[in-house]
Amino acid sequence: MKTRLFAAACFVAFPLATVFTIAQTTADLKVRTTTTASEVAASEVVQAFRPADSASGLQLDAMDKSADACTDFYQFACGGWIARNPVPADRSGFGRFDELQERNNDTLHTILEAAAAGREPEFKKIGDYYASCLDETAIDAKGAGPLDPLLKKIAALSSVNDLAPLVAELHTIGVNVFFQFGSQADFKDASVEMALADQGGLGLPDRDYYVKDDAKSVELRAQYVDHIAKLAALLGASGDQAKASAQQAMAIETALATSALDAVSRRDPNKVYHKMSNAELQALTPQFMWNRYFSGIGSPPIYALNVAEPEFFKAFGRIVATTPLDQIKTYLRWQLVHASAAVLARPFVDENFRFFGTALTGAKELRPRWKRCVQYTDNDLGESLGQAFVKVAFGPQAKADTLKMVHELESALQTDIQGLDWMTPTTKKEALVKLRAIADKIGYPDHWRDYSALTIVRGDALGNSQRSNAFEFHRQMAKIGKPVDKSLWQMTPPTVNAYYDPLENNINFPAGILQPPFYSAKADAAVNFGGAGAVIGHELTHGFDDQGRQFDARGNLKDWWTPADAKSFEDRAQCFVDEYAGFTAVDEVKLNGKLTLGENTADNGGLRIALMAYLARNSSSAPAPALDGFTPEQRVFLGWGQVWCENVRPERARMLAQINPHSPGHDRVNGVVSNMPEFQKAFACKADAPMVRKNQCRVW
Ligand SMILES: [Zn+2]
Repeated sequence: MKTRLFAAACFVAFPLATVFTIAQTTADLKVRTTTTASEVAASEVVQAFRPADSASGLQLDAMDKSADACTDFYQFACGGWIARNPVPADRSGFGRFDELQERNNDTLHTILEAAAAGREPEFKKIGDYYASCLDETAIDAKGAGPLDPLLKKIAALSSVNDLAPLVAELHTIGVNVFFQFGSQADFKDASVEMALADQGGLGLPDRDYYVKDDAKSVELRAQYVDHIAKLAALLGASGDQAKASAQQAMAIETALATSALDAVSRRDPNKVYHKMSNAELQALTPQFMWNRYFSGIGSPPIYALNVAEPEFFKAFGRIVATTPLDQIKTYLRWQLVHASAAVLARPFVDENFRFFGTALTGAKELRPRWKRCVQYTDNDLGESLGQAFVKVAFGPQAKADTLKMVHELESALQTDIQGLDWMTPTTKKEALVKLRAIADKIGYPDHWRDYSALTIVRGDALGNSQRSNAFEFHRQMAKIGKPVDKSLWQMTPPTVNAYYDPLENNINFPAGILQPPFYSAKADAAVNFGGAGAVIGHELTHGFDDQGRQFDARGNLKDWWTPADAKSFEDRAQCFVDEYAGFTAVDEVKLNGKLTLGENTADNGGLRIALMAYLARNSSSAPAPALDGFTPEQRVFLGWGQVWCENVRPERARMLAQINPHSPGHDRVNGVVSNMPEFQKAFACKADAPMVRKNQCRVW
């Protein structure tokens, strides 16, 4: 269980991995079955990517040159790609990130096939894991059998006093009942890991799904309850029993959700930091035997922990005390099968997909099994698979080029901070101390994770998944009370994403994203700065967004701003809140300007300093020539625009607007460039053009 509070301010939404709890991740990622049609579609997708045939490295046929860059820059940069890349049936959305992830997955596929065939003894574990996952015949033959031992334990629960050890056992294998437990740096002393108790226990993506009363939310809840009932029926309940038990499980989740903090509040570090002693936690929740829970999870002695949302835990205690034991058992059973469905027999996989794939996100058919299995192997053994990946997909040239760009971006941000007219020298000095302290991590970890304590058994797909979860859980537990190890990574090397960690004050770029269209050794520097350069700028700016700015150079939650400068920051940030709240996600749904503030700030600052860094690199030489008909500045903007080409199904767009702190691709492009006088100049836009905002927002 990777329980972390906003530790990773990343570049794109995690593939539902941190947005959802681990069990829920299972839902969107761990779903599918092989059909010839989708296999064909998938391989076409991969072939559709080819190294750009342009002089600059831009994908010229992705553009729509009939569009006017000053009217709709997104359409200009991406119109061709959007028209040619409808969402494949087995997806809820498809963009250039996914296109790249597909290529990375092809590489992983080759690696895993070789490992599964025994040709790579060094990678026996990932081969066995992958082969077990692929073996659908063996999995189907077992039905729900692999769940029996735990179902029996749940059935044997005879008193609420014995709940704690059972919750501990379920948490250990990745079943997130009631709440989540993990470790994280102490916000006020970020050099030390401390235990973290966080809200959880829900099957839907966010607490708002349980409390909103618009027609779409009401409909989704009805479909969700129906889904719970169908899984209960698959475990053997009669029709009426299944329906009744679904209502019971939903009642518990609704009670938990009602007391949970909303997503915007959870972005405020002060609202999710409540350091308590064990005794204080026990007093808050007298109905739950925490000592028995702690001994069940095998943690080192816990003297203090961050109880992120005390009101939630109070409610949890009340729920445990007032809910009939049989109803609690029904809820535990549901969460167990929910967390496991994707690695069980076909009927469970299909039903899981029917709700989480189709109803919630709009996908039409399961992803081919091998793709699901590649993804699960990456989730569970990512630093073994990643080791094989970087050998073939990431060379020293890419690492050196990226590091050079990082240093140039850091220098550009320094220039930017020094030149700000709204910040006093006192705060600037502190900002520069923080900037200089940011550590750069590129490609993959210096030391690979040691999986020797993890047992992978060929032919035991569910067991492998549970033991992997337990391995990860114990790894987190073992950190408690120890110094923070900043060399560890929160993303695996093949991941197409990047992150800034405010508690560690470092930026992290997995090898998976340092590939075209973000970076290519063959591409023109302007295009690389618009892609990878802006990603680097984005992560650096996170250190200074509305959340990151509250942490200091050492990662401590500590205010280093003068009150007047803080006020100036907030006034400027409000401009972004208002701007993005005006953008439409789908139908009547608007973006949430507060939820997306940090990411929008990072996009706007990131592209500006990427452009600055590019121009600084070329300042001493003659102006770079036009390529493919575009000036160097235009190519930086096009490089940025072209990483965001995407098509998204309406169901997914609706979901993301509610839970995703990132804006959709369209707004990440047009929202940013319309704030930049540099864009107006580069494309010679008239003052009243749509891409020239009257009230241009700017923080960094
Ligand atoms: Zn971000």
